[in-house]
Amino acid sequence: MSTFLELGLKEPINKALTDLGYEKPTVIQEKAIPQIISSTDDLKAFAQTGTGKTAAFSLPILELLDDTNGNVQAIILSPTRELAVQIGNNIKEFCKYLPKTKVTTVYGGSSIEDQIRSLKRGSQIVVGTPGRTVDLIKRRALKLGNVQWLVLDEADEMLNMGFKDELDKVLEATPDTKQTLLFSATFPREVESIARNYMTSPVEITSGQKNSGSVNVTHEYYSVTERTRYPALKRIADLNPDIYAIIFCRTRRETQEVADNLIKDGYSADSLHGDLSQAQRDSVMGKFRKKSIQILVATDVAARGLDVNELSHVINHKLPDQIENYNHRSGRTGRAGNKGISIVLVNGKEKGKLRQIERIIQKKFVQGKVPSGKEIVQNQLMNLIDKVQNTEVNESEMEEFLPSIYEKLEDLDREELIKKFVSLEFNTMLKYYENSKDLNDLSSRENSRARTVNENMTRFFINIGRKDNLNPGKLIGLINEQNIGDKVEIGSIDILDTFSFFELDKNFEDKTLEAFANNQPDFDGRSVNIEITKKERSGGGGGRRGGRKPFGKREGSGFGRRREGGSSSRGRSDRRSSNKRSSDRPDRADRNSGSGSGERRSSSGFGRKRRES
Ligand code: AMP
Repeated sequence: MSTFLELGLKEPINKALTDLGYEKPTVIQEKAIPQIISSTDDLKAFAQTGTGKTAAFSLPILELLDDTNGNVQAIILSPTRELAVQIGNNIKEFCKYLPKTKVTTVYGGSSIEDQIRSLKRGSQIVVGTPGRTVDLIKRRALKLGNVQWLVLDEADEMLNMGFKDELDKVLEATPDTKQTLLFSATFPREVESIARNYMTSPVEITSGQKNSGSVNVTHEYYSVTERTRYPALKRIADLNPDIYAIIFCRTRRETQEVADNLIKDGYSADSLHGDLSQAQRDSVMGKFRKKSIQILVATDVAARGLDVNELSHVINHKLPDQIENYNHRSGRTGRAGNKGISIVLVNGKEKGKLRQIERIIQKKFVQGKVPSGKEIVQNQLMNLIDKVQNTEVNESEMEEFLPSIYEKLEDLDREELIKKFVSLEFNTMLKYYENSKDLNDLSSRENSRARTVNENMTRFFINIGRKDNLNPGKLIGLINEQNIGDKVEIGSIDILDTFSFFELDKNFEDKTLEAFANNQPDFDGRSVNIEITKKERSGGGGGRRGGRKPFGKREGSGFGRRREGGSSSRGRSDRRSSNKRSSDRPDRADRNSGSGSGERRSSSGFGRKRRES
């Protein structure tokens, strides 16, 4: 294998790569770098994410460009803001020792004036999302007349996201003499047609087999019904206490529901999709990168720009509509030499897609068994014991407390002590899985039956909603003010525009009606009334009420908090229904460079509040 210098790169680039810890070129770099340096032929490269393709196209450009000239010489298009920013930052790192080389990254959801100012100062390389790039061309702030290299990164994804018109416009704004470098993980008809129409006899290179997945990824499938899909997901997470995973969903609505349910059930999870504002998405991605959340529930599009190399699992809660996207999803794990597992949850109808995917990835799926409660408990227990074994004891810090601890525990022998400490961590889990069902027997009534309403709850209609400034917290406050009873449990809450629903312990049904009738409360100047409704609850997972904490974290018993947690997913359902059509479609909200609706969401806030307590 060659070194970067042997591939034809100059010392300042090599030095920057050494600083970054890049010791040897990856396969795609080894093939693309000398090809681009030595030839002006167009290039079609088959490359998955995680193969080092950013360096593969940007290093030869850095090698060749004229840094004495401030014209835009390279334009790099990428499907999402996150990916554009990541590429821009990577290139800035690569040209650490090339002080005259300037890079500007342009994308929506951020000040266009700042980007125009940066372009005016002169940049040889511009990285952009298609929408914003076209905007800047139209404003004459971005001039591509001197471009020598046009890079289309993740071309399949750009076309998937509906950027065909924008790509056409950018291609038209560049001179015919340019060299086009097209990088794509898959080559569906649309990408081939771009290659045919805009490239001249391109040279083809590949970082492996065309369309095939990473060799480091094992592909597993688990058979589920709609009733067992969510419980199976939780069991997979429970079996792997150190899981660091992206759970992929098809739509924004599905994403939010799964995330809300996981948060409600105490998992370290959050959601990432196009309904979130850019700031919210940045914050979630930041937390996931730092591993302050272990599970990210995401749509395909929103997860595109996330650069994490150590994912233990990719879980396909539902398979993507376009099976080619499976490759993108599973390619998020098994990166940078790590091993990864890509899991697919499939019902009977979805199973057919597995064969088609196997043809694309050229690998067989292995059937996984949804772990039993016993297996999970055993695994968790051993994990805990390993952690105990490896925990370093800080003698000096503990010294002053030890005498009183020893005194308190002096009547317990070693075995009793171990049992007590383990029980402290494990009682909740043992209880949870005590009589757990076999989720692999899909013919059983239990597992195949559709979800039903919670029999212990009564669902009430209330005549106030979001327009009256109602939110789950205020509704809980209002219910508590009616003095229905100390122990009354409030279930899910759905806040809609002009009215809402809440669930409350069935045993307090009459008392609740009575209390509201007698007190005649008003809320924000509106007199409040409630009625019992028979409407069924929608969605939701199979987690038990009140939620399970991740192991090692305490079960939150606070009444108000629990209800907040429980209500978070429901609190969004009104928006979901008003947004239904778009939220039920695969996520394309961020097609314009990633600016979401800006709407605040309640879920993670509630979930975290509850967990932190
Ligand atoms: P990419 O496919 O460009 O998104 O790169 C995937 C990851 O691999 C990124 O975190 C890069 O920083 C890293 N990477 C790329 N090339 C190399 C290399 N030659 N050696 C080590 N890491 C690399």
